[in-house]
Amino acid sequence: MSFQYIKEMPGVAEILESIPLSEELNKLKKKRDEEIIAIFRRESEKFLVIIGPCSADNEDAVCEYVSRLARLQDEVKEKLILVPRIYTNKPRTTGEGYKGMAHQPKPTEAPNMIKGLKAIRKMHIRAMEESHLTAADEMLYPGNYPYLQDILSYVAVGARSVENQLHRLTISGLDVPAGMKNPTGGDIEIMLNSVQAAQMPHVFVYNGWEVKTSGNPLTHCILRGAVNPYGTTIPNYHYEDMMRLCEAYKKRDLRFPAIIVDTNHANSNKKFYEQPRIAREVMRSRQNSKTLKTKVMGLMIESYLVEG
Ligand code: PEP
Ligand code: MN
Repeated sequence: MSFQYIKEMPGVAEILESIPLSEELNKLKKKRDEEIIAIFRRESEKFLVIIGPCSADNEDAVCEYVSRLARLQDEVKEKLILVPRIYTNKPRTTGEGYKGMAHQPKPTEAPNMIKGLKAIRKMHIRAMEESHLTAADEMLYPGNYPYLQDILSYVAVGARSVENQLHRLTISGLDVPAGMKNPTGGDIEIMLNSVQAAQMPHVFVYNGWEVKTSGNPLTHCILRGAVNPYGTTIPNYHYEDMMRLCEAYKKRDLRFPAIIVDTNHANSNKKFYEQPRIAREVMRSRQNSKTLKTKVMGLMIESYLVEG
């Protein structure tokens, strides 16, 4: 075993106390959670837009972006709820490259997990303070969730993690909506297995404890496109793909069946400029089908301050 135990990580209570969320932001988070949850419970007609950069690698840039979003949120508040993507850890296809702010608070410097943890909590709180929006992040390392438990309004499990047991069981204990992406190969039954698992209660070992969860009924699917064994991209945002997922949902006894469409990744073949076209197509499909209108609850879009 080559493990070197570098440093013991600070406890959750210690981090939450040393970088606290104010009473005002606590109230804001509760209100936003209620508004977002109401969409999944079909108690609100609003549409969700989870939007922001692929990777939140710079606090100032992220806060500027999120503040701009806040102005837009005000303009569209009757119809849309905007949830900034503040993604602080990045899965890497081959394990190489920048793993996100949680690992490397400065992208050019060596990994430092304690500094990273503090940096992401600080950035999330500042973004919330300056925008009055609450954010989404990806659950890449399930054990880190408690450090942001009072902050995140939406959690996504990525295409490379969706088959992982610990991700599924951890999501089962969250009380915010959680999106399970289809795996990179595109199998929608794997994604639905993941949703089903997370909607159920579980007993398991988590961060050194035996824990018990009650299941998360707000767990749902995110269509992000796929890549076949020959490396060809297969989008899954078309009318037929979404209808197929609705049919597959019917065969399972799941709470609040919902679909979010990711307009980037394998749906755009990473051509970010295709996203407006894809978003328009999803909205048109939704208008053409009552089924889709009640299942497609939102879009996930990648965007930042400057193109590319
Ligand atoms: C992302 O949302 O930036 C991401 C890495 O997604 P996926 O897991 O779908 O590749
Ligand atoms: Mn991305």
